[in-house]
Order: sequence, then C-alpha cells, then structure tokens
Amino acid sequence: MSATVPDQSPWSTRQIGQWSVLTGVGVALMSVAWNAASRELRFADMLGWLELSLAGLLLTGLANVGWYLGARRAVVRLRSALMANVAPAPVAAVTEAGSLPVSADPMRRYHRPGCQLVLGRAVNAESRDAHEAAGRVPCGMCRP
Ligand SMILES: [Zn+2]
Repeated sequence: MSATVPDQSPWSTRQIGQWSVLTGVGVALMSVAWNAASRELRFADMLGWLELSLAGLLLTGLANVGWYLGARRAVVRLRSALMANVAPAPVAAVTEAGSLPVSADPMRRYHRPGCQLVLGRAVNAESRDAHEAAGRVPCGMCRP
C-alpha cells in the first residue's frame, strides 16, 4: 500500500502574506517607537512610545499565533491523510482471547499484542490498570 500524502506547504499564499504584513508592521512600529523614545528625556514622555511599541509587539505576536495555527492545521490534515492509509491491525491479533496489553519500561504507551509498533520487541503483558499505574497511556494506533 502506498501512502498518498498531500504535497503542500503548511501555509497558503494568503497566510504568508498576512504574516509578512503583520510582522513587518509590528517590527516597524517597535523600531519607530524605540527610536522616538530614545530622543525623549523624561520618562513620562516615553510612555506613549512604549504603548506604540507594545502595539507592534502585539501585532507580531498575533502574526506568529496565526502562523503556528496554520502549521498545526496542516499537521492534523497530513496526519489524517496518513492514518487513512494505515491498514487496520489484523482482526486475529486484536481479538486474541485473554491477551493483555503489552509494553516495556522505556515505552510511554501500551499496545495490543499485535500492534505493529511492538512487533519484534521484548514486551511485558500486564493489565490495563498496571500500565496506567506505571504512567503509560493507550497507543493511538491500536487503541488497546
Ligand atoms: Zn499500538
């Protein structure tokens, strides 16, 4: 089975443009405010420039939050595309009678015995409660 992963940038051209404009304006506001405040002699006269600088900082922050969220959405979209192409675990492995979830000490997740993430590894079978008491969480792929 071949995975078909969309080949695309995490950000659209529109998002890149928005990020560039917001970041550019934010940096320009901070630069102007810094230069203007450096010419003031009294602290009280600098406060207005400080507010302008904070507005610029807020703009760059908003731009980067949007940038991050765009990338996050792309990761979710790509992960969904990948998981749609993952073959489900074989039914026999999933429904083994009396089989307990397995894991090993360095693992942070516990799995069904037939999970492809533990095949060929030395693992210990324990109850679900024992795994969770050891701080492990269920595998998102085999969902034990
Ligand atoms: Zn698993």
